[in-house]
Amino acid sequence: MPGTKLRLLIVGGVAGGATAAARARRISEAAEITVVERGPAVSYANCGLPYFISGEIDRRSKLILQTPEGFSRRYRVTVRLQTEAIEIDRAGRRVLVRGPEGEAWLPYDALILAQGGNPVAPEIPGTDAPHVFSLWTVSDMDRLHEYLEREHPKTAVVVGGGFVGLEMAEAFRKRGLATTVVELASTVMPTMDPDFGVRIAHELESHGVTVITGARVRSVGQGVELSDGRKLPADLVLFSVGVRPELALARGAGLEVGATGGLLVDDRLRTSDPHIYAAGDMVEVEHKVSGRKVRVPLAGPANRQGRIAASNALGLDLRYSGALGTSVVRVFDATVASTGLSERAARDAGFAVGVVVIHRDDHAGYFPGARQLCLELVYDRTTARVLGAQAFGPAGVDKRIDVVATALQGKLTLHDLAELDLAYAPQFSSANDALNIAAFAGINDISGFSPLCTATQLKQVLAAGERPVLLDVRTSGEYQLSHLQGAMHVPVDELRDRCDEIPSGARVFVYCGVGYRAHLAARILRERGFDDVTNVTGGLLSLRAEGGFEWEEA
Ligand SMILES: Cc1cc2nc3c(=O)[nH]c(=O)nc-3n(C[C@H](O)[C@H](O)[C@H](O)COP(=O)(O)OP(=O)(O)OC[C@H]3O[C@@H](n4cnc5c(N)ncnc54)[C@H](O)[C@@H]3O)c2cc1C
Repeated sequence: MPGTKLRLLIVGGVAGGATAAARARRISEAAEITVVERGPAVSYANCGLPYFISGEIDRRSKLILQTPEGFSRRYRVTVRLQTEAIEIDRAGRRVLVRGPEGEAWLPYDALILAQGGNPVAPEIPGTDAPHVFSLWTVSDMDRLHEYLEREHPKTAVVVGGGFVGLEMAEAFRKRGLATTVVELASTVMPTMDPDFGVRIAHELESHGVTVITGARVRSVGQGVELSDGRKLPADLVLFSVGVRPELALARGAGLEVGATGGLLVDDRLRTSDPHIYAAGDMVEVEHKVSGRKVRVPLAGPANRQGRIAASNALGLDLRYSGALGTSVVRVFDATVASTGLSERAARDAGFAVGVVVIHRDDHAGYFPGARQLCLELVYDRTTARVLGAQAFGPAGVDKRIDVVATALQGKLTLHDLAELDLAYAPQFSSANDALNIAAFAGINDISGFSPLCTATQLKQVLAAGERPVLLDVRTSGEYQLSHLQGAMHVPVDELRDRCDEIPSGARVFVYCGVGYRAHLAARILRERGFDDVTNVTGGLLSLRAEGGFEWEEA
């Protein structure tokens, strides 16, 4: 509360911790605020670390957002760097810290833990060698940067194809290293649906990065050895295989840990001890769509949680409503982003999942510079509620995903998205934005006006031994170049006159390039009494990204 002379102690001084300290001061001029930070820097931009390595951020100092002196000047916050909190005495409300001046007990009235996480250290022989790295802190970055400048390595292997792994693969490539990404899952970026992983892998490969998926690293020596015996040259190896919450201090104090392995907090971000709050990568929170407990190691949630934890520690009453996991990453010329639930996560959560995939220009096709965007919208077929979205493309990705994130926050439905009045001029969008179109298609699917299936679902039908009619409605030129094995060909413009070529009563899966002509075809057929016609959403582009189909090529 304003005027309270409360002693607030914060452990961890980066995203969540620094935000908490600044917010606490804005609430109370009287509070005594201390931040203890184990590392050599407070409030630095860990999200910027890969770009110092790539050379896009030219000065290290740009990553340091605050110094202890600056923090003290502006906020009157005491920052103790290179000081580690090693024990919490909950009964005595004090924390034992060890730093340059030795050990000391720091008293608190309220304690905020914002300790983040640590990169998972794989138990593989050779990972302690000097050419093996992870990238999580400024110190990690310094060590890696120094190695690159000193040793001029020629080859790099990045183990792990998640956000940081992909950012680092790009950084190494930009420095001229021959770079390979090794990912255990069957596609890179395994938190997204597999077709997006395939698109990302193509982007990496088109910039000279080798991508190996479904492979485990067995050992690191002169190079990297995979469990199938393959050996990859590696003057440098970077592991980026996940983050584990930093929980030793909390566990030592007997604070409750949740089922996901994150520290348990309530919606006020209070731990199982009412005097101790927690924020950021170390906690588990509720997913706003699935309602399940999740860990979301991202900067946005950490900052907002830090703000809420500080507010509540200072006597206000703010609630954290949960996370969506909205994220975005650049992979060379592509932007990849997602929010809410992927198709797979939505199925796991028990929703009656519908999916629409559209490939459209990011702005009006007639205006120069339009480039194709792939947008996947996931929805609940029972309620039409929007559940999540993923997008990939050179432009316009982030704004679509941010709109869907807003829709998720407001629990909007496809009907709301269809009605969204979004900014339009030809340089920026289309009169019906990609999101409006995706919502129209979703509504048409749910209502039965034009049912959709994904490429994955079609593959499952074929794998089950069914032999439905595969109807390709593209032009003859497109069909001749390449089509699904066994696909019947009737260009959409001829379909009205050639419907009788399609066996009546047949189950028909219709596809085109991206889905629009197939939608028209589905309508033509349905109007003529074919009532089992399904449009393969995303068309040929999605079938290609899915993989696993037999093709007849020219
Ligand atoms: C290379 C990289 C790129 C990233 N890019 C993005 C991005 O583009 N977008 C995004 O949303 N997120 C990104 N992230 C993730 C984001 O940085 C984290 O989610 C966020 O920093 C978490 O904030 P936090 O406060 O929980 O933990 P951190 O920011 O990690 O801070 C925790 C601090 O606590 C300190 N600490 C831990 N234990 C103790 C102790 N006992 N005593 C004292 N101090 C302690 C640690 O030294 C650490 O400095 C990236 C992360 C990395 C590493």
